[in-house]
Amino acid sequence: MTTQRTFDIVVLGGGPGGYPAAIRAAQSGKTVGLIEAKDVGGTCLNRGCIPSKTLIANAEVLKRVQEAEEFGVVTGSISFDFGKMVARKDRIVGSVRKNLEGLIATNRIELLRGFGKLTSSTTIKVTGVDNVIIQAGKIIIATGSEPRSIPAFPFDHERILDSTSMLEIQALPKSLVIIGGGIIGCEFASLYAALGVEVSIVEMMSSILPMESQSVSSYLTKVFKKKGIKIYTDTFVESIQKDEKSVTVKLAGGEDISAEISLVAVGRSLNTANIGLEAAGVLTTKEGLVAVNEKMETNVPGIYAVGDIASKWWLAHVASHQGLVAAKNACGIPAHMNYNAVPSVIFTDPEIGSVGLSLEAAIAAGHDATVSAFPFQALGKSQAAFQTEGFAQVVTDKRTGQILGAQVVGHEASSLVAEMVVAISAELTIESITEAIHAHPTVAEVWLEAALMASEFPLHLPPKRKETKP
Ligand SMILES: Cc1cc2nc3c(=O)[nH]c(=O)nc-3n(C[C@H](O)[C@H](O)[C@H](O)COP(=O)(O)OP(=O)(O)OC[C@H]3O[C@@H](n4cnc5c(N)ncnc54)[C@H](O)[C@@H]3O)c2cc1C
Repeated sequence: MTTQRTFDIVVLGGGPGGYPAAIRAAQSGKTVGLIEAKDVGGTCLNRGCIPSKTLIANAEVLKRVQEAEEFGVVTGSISFDFGKMVARKDRIVGSVRKNLEGLIATNRIELLRGFGKLTSSTTIKVTGVDNVIIQAGKIIIATGSEPRSIPAFPFDHERILDSTSMLEIQALPKSLVIIGGGIIGCEFASLYAALGVEVSIVEMMSSILPMESQSVSSYLTKVFKKKGIKIYTDTFVESIQKDEKSVTVKLAGGEDISAEISLVAVGRSLNTANIGLEAAGVLTTKEGLVAVNEKMETNVPGIYAVGDIASKWWLAHVASHQGLVAAKNACGIPAHMNYNAVPSVIFTDPEIGSVGLSLEAAIAAGHDATVSAFPFQALGKSQAAFQTEGFAQVVTDKRTGQILGAQVVGHEASSLVAEMVVAISAELTIESITEAIHAHPTVAEVWLEAALMASEFPLHLPPKRKETKP
């Protein structure tokens, strides 16, 4: 039976864009309905960030145990149980989801389970477990994205997989070929290589992680090759053929790569079709994104859009921030988005963190920019922990010393980047970092050392210049 409901604010989609928006609006005293067709937490919690990072955490423990001898720890023969790793992943996802469902309930948000479709600029029809016609004061659309399917790569989710089915495999393949060397492709490559799978990556662009700074992508390329990962760049995949036991990836130019399974990680398609954008009069850009202003409001007053459908960032933390901005505006509290200091983290081994401009991007933007890098190898804490791989670098404006960007490759890079997020969003100069006392011994000293390098007074590396300055 279809019922009728009225809410001050309705959020369509319960992923990292939608649920923070719903919580913020509820905390501002509004009545809030949250519509979700599958599971709350969206791609990130159920098919993305959390399951992938849980599997990666399993592989990190394995690596640490394999390194035990270095620390004088005697282990005997080492093996692992992939089934238990998968079960742990499912347990963690289930537990985080349960906590989130609790949070939604304690914030007095009404969760409506079903597929929502706008029928006008103020009404939504929900079909599914709940069948409801909703009258909404304001609407926040956060319907996210799905793995993109391409006719040349017919997914069967057994031999030809997307990121969602890849997270569901129950047995390790002997070999894996990954189409696409972006973030998702590289994270899976790193994970499965660590578990002993023979991995190949095929990338159409001239390097893996083509969106990262050149120094970062070439460093990761070297590390991956050392681990035995085969990398084909500037290479176009024409088709994937499969039989009962294997796949054959046909490359333009005639070469074939055979493997037990293949993962296609060539981008995402946006969940903007069939959600009634036309009925509500909401416009999209030529790239297919929902067009929004800095308040995350669409061309229709009172309708907002956030997350993957609303910007090019496709990151959970950007979606969440946009969700909070949209909710505040919907509640009459002015807020706007600023994308100057968006961190991007990649959970390969070694991890990568970056924020702001790369050297190439800074120069292209007209800055007289320079970059200073410091290797973890030269830090006492990294030596102590036997985690010396990688480096951190800061990109600065030569004239003003302002920090324009920062990249870090190495252990805990995903957390280390946070210092530079604050530095860049507060428009700090290199001097602010050299003047800030960094605890010793910690890996965060890498920023102090890189900043000292930029100021040409390096501490734990030989000086860059011969002449002394006062
Ligand atoms: C393998 C993988 C790993 C990733 N790792 C990271 C990472 O480490 N860090 C990071 O920042 N990002 C990561 N991401 C990206 C991140 O998951 C997305 O950017 C983020 O989930 C986008 O949030 P969203 O709210 O816009 O959409 P989604 O998370 O896709 O959520 C949208 C929700 O809306 C629901 N929905 C859609 N249409 C309707 C409808 N009509 N009615 C009702 N409900 C609907 C969907 O069921 C879904 O639950 C990863 C992605 C993948 C695939």
